[in-house]
Amino acid sequence: MTAQALNSMLRMVFLCLGPIGALACIAALASQWSEVDALDRVALPLLAVILLVVTGVVAFNLLSVTLATRISFVATAVYFLLGLDRQFFWFVLHHQMLSESSYWFAVLYATAFVAFRADRAIQVCAAIFVISLLICLSHLWTLKMGGLLTYRIVASVVQFLIASMTLVLVQVAVGRLRQQLDQVRAVAFLDVLTGLPNRLSAQQQLEGMMRTGRKFSVVMLDIDHFKQVNDTYGHQTGDMVLRETGRVVSRHLHGEQFMARWGGEEFMLVLPDVHKQGGKALAETARQDLYQHVFDQVGGLTASFGVAECVIGEDLNDVMRRADAALYAAKRQGRNGVRVAMDDGRLTRLDLPAQVDQE
Ligand code: GH3
Ligand code: MG
Ligand code: MG
Repeated sequence: MTAQALNSMLRMVFLCLGPIGALACIAALASQWSEVDALDRVALPLLAVILLVVTGVVAFNLLSVTLATRISFVATAVYFLLGLDRQFFWFVLHHQMLSESSYWFAVLYATAFVAFRADRAIQVCAAIFVISLLICLSHLWTLKMGGLLTYRIVASVVQFLIASMTLVLVQVAVGRLRQQLDQVRAVAFLDVLTGLPNRLSAQQQLEGMMRTGRKFSVVMLDIDHFKQVNDTYGHQTGDMVLRETGRVVSRHLHGEQFMARWGGEEFMLVLPDVHKQGGKALAETARQDLYQHVFDQVGGLTASFGVAECVIGEDLNDVMRRADAALYAAKRQGRNGVRVAMDDGRLTRLDLPAQVDQE
């Protein structure tokens, strides 16, 4: 799943869970209407308002879902910890055990891994556990001093703490696995030589945009006469040229635009929400920059560019075929140029001569 798809899934989940959380707060308040706890009287409405406001802000795209999840998580964790502390003043003495609200700590430990990166989630879980441990120990000590500590209270608190610790340890193990998985995923989508996203990464992101109907343009870029660089200066210098080309061209990209190594000395620029005219302008600027760049040992080099805009209804191979055709037209027309593919598969009339370039 691409980062984009994951993010939109998390956004949908958050937009559902936010109001459900707020409803749960209101239900908890209603369930104790005859005699509302002093903490709940303030904290539950406040938590419900925070959840609703954050959901609203996410719905209008004014806040990232990651930040919204973290705010909601922290607000909920603070409420649960205050609630745990509060239980010892009345509930625990009266019922000789912790209340059912302690079960919710399990949800807290599990959702930490949704709200935070794996390594940070481990720290967050450990912090929540240590705070709840300190709360319990301090109250057990006070009860003991007051002669109010019973076997049942100790047993209930110890069970709560052991269950919490087990959950935290399981989460740490799962978190470590997730960390490793993230690292493996990052490597699988990276080109080791240039540090750019690789072809698989570009393909996945392009397919994601096609699925969601998002418009985009692609620019295929191929270094001219690159074989001569290898033949004249050696493979290592060739590698340096590939890395340097990535660096020079990438500096013309902004926001979600990215450059991927498509294979060999071919690169792909992915330009979401950009029409072919915008793609052509960007490619032209990058071409000139590359033309003026001085590569160590090698000196000047040029590249050819082919631009294509996705057309509704076509598949990824069609867009790539058109970008490739435009690129090879640029090669045929003398290299060091930019050509744009027509949406029907031909090259633009502006990029004539037609008898040369039409497919
Ligand atoms: P054109 O202008 O038509 O594109 O000619 P060209 O020489 O650039 O293209 P050609 O396809 O003939 O040669 C591409 C060369 O790129 C051949 C291959 O050895 C080299 N190459 C592919 N991958 C790498 C790499 O990772 N490092 C280096 N140094 N060279 C590579
Ligand atoms: Mg080449
Ligand atoms: Mg090539």
